Amino acid sequence: MSARTAAALLCSFALGAPAGAQSTLITGARVIDGSGQPGIIADVRIIGDRIADIGILNQRQGETIIRASGLVLAPGFIDTHSHADDAIFAHPDALADVSQGVTTVVVGQDGGSPWPLADFFARLQKTPPAVNVAAYAGHGTIRDRVMGADYKRVATPAEVEKMTQLLLGEMRAGALGLSSGLEYDPGIYSDSTELFAMAKPLDAMHGRYISHIRSEDYAFWKAIDEIIAIGRHDFLPVQVSHIKLAMKGLWGQGPQLVARLDAARAEGVRITADIYPYTYWHSGLSVLIPSRDFTDRGKAAFALANVVPADGLIITYYEPDPSYVDKTLAQIAALRHEDDTTALMALEQQADAESRRAGHGVDGIIGVSMDERDIVTLLQWPWSNICSDGELDGKHPRGFGAFTRVLGRYVREQHVLTLEEAVRKMTTLAAANTGIADRGRLSVGMYADLVLFDPTTVADRATLQDPHAVSAGIRDTWVNGVLVYAEGRATGAMPGQVIRRGAP
Ligand SMILES: [Zn+2]
Repeated sequence: MSARTAAALLCSFALGAPAGAQSTLITGARVIDGSGQPGIIADVRIIGDRIADIGILNQRQGETIIRASGLVLAPGFIDTHSHADDAIFAHPDALADVSQGVTTVVVGQDGGSPWPLADFFARLQKTPPAVNVAAYAGHGTIRDRVMGADYKRVATPAEVEKMTQLLLGEMRAGALGLSSGLEYDPGIYSDSTELFAMAKPLDAMHGRYISHIRSEDYAFWKAIDEIIAIGRHDFLPVQVSHIKLAMKGLWGQGPQLVARLDAARAEGVRITADIYPYTYWHSGLSVLIPSRDFTDRGKAAFALANVVPADGLIITYYEPDPSYVDKTLAQIAALRHEDDTTALMALEQQADAESRRAGHGVDGIIGVSMDERDIVTLLQWPWSNICSDGELDGKHPRGFGAFTRVLGRYVREQHVLTLEEAVRKMTTLAAANTGIADRGRLSVGMYADLVLFDPTTVADRATLQDPHAVSAGIRDTWVNGVLVYAEGRATGAMPGQVIRRGAP
């Protein structure tokens, strides 16, 4: 330890703490640095917004001391697929995130991003939230700017060129890359040629491509092949968003999926994934009918038999009839004195008509659709990092519990991952899979984004019934050296920074 400590002291001297900078000493924690290496017992000093020193350290006068023996100190978690952009200005304390140790959120997901990003970033800098924010530029958002209401078709070459120029503007504003949502309007109407063209210039800018792929059920393997093809064709890193096998006929095929991804990697395609640890997703009614033919009884029946059962389809939002919220489709069908398929068709048609009138989505559903075995297989793939896919005030418990659920259920209870490997998947791997530098590793000189937790009690508490219950076992969370969560509540400090794409 002595050589390491000496090196650390040198570094801290070299860093030169700004005069009057707040200094905090966290003593005796098991330090897990995010690399996957076993944790070591050490003290960690934060000065200003950086990690200044790691080792056996003496207390300095006036320094805040946090005694942490028995606890784990890790880099703050990076949520690579977050929907915090929906409500970050309404909930700047980001309680959903900081209460589970998340210190950086990556937004602009599934093809939808704040437009333009320069304005979003400027607003965040003017009124910072508690967490750091990075963003992708959304393919659907850009497609909408260029094609407007006339989007239910393949784009012309001139339109693709316009979209690419808009994307480059967003990249210059600091976007990490391009995100697509190919199961949603308007992305579903794009073809691979459009995506090849838009992603092409990104690698030279250290950008990347991430995708809610075209199908997570009916046409799953074709959709996987499409994202691999983009990585192969355009030479850029590609990431499958919230990877899952969401149809009965696909259950148990996790090993085949991992084999397909490994084969692509062996061939040189830089493909990775993120994943959240639940057997149910949160989306909209339309994804159940990719053809968008909501009058086709056979398709509705097939969806209920294979993708989401009527008692596993829960309405979370429904503008045409808010009394349906929190009910399952089976319950709604009983209320309507209809069979499940008839009820689904009625809800699909009503939501479609209403959303056309309103000009926005009018429904949300949770669908029980995945198999526990596949979640385990995909969690264990070395290239999958953890994400939440959650919102700050959403109906799916993943918003408040995805990270702590991995640490409690999959690390402590089921031994699916070691604690060090789970932390790696929340920190260094997440940083690598998004191209974020200076964060995600607990080492001297990095930003002091940190989480202190009790490995014997850490667990998610959020459920479908109580999706905003804060996690157990998270003691303190720091963002840029500032305590944002302690004693079970947000401190009210707002030290979050905008993270723009930098050199790798
Ligand atoms: Zn998605």
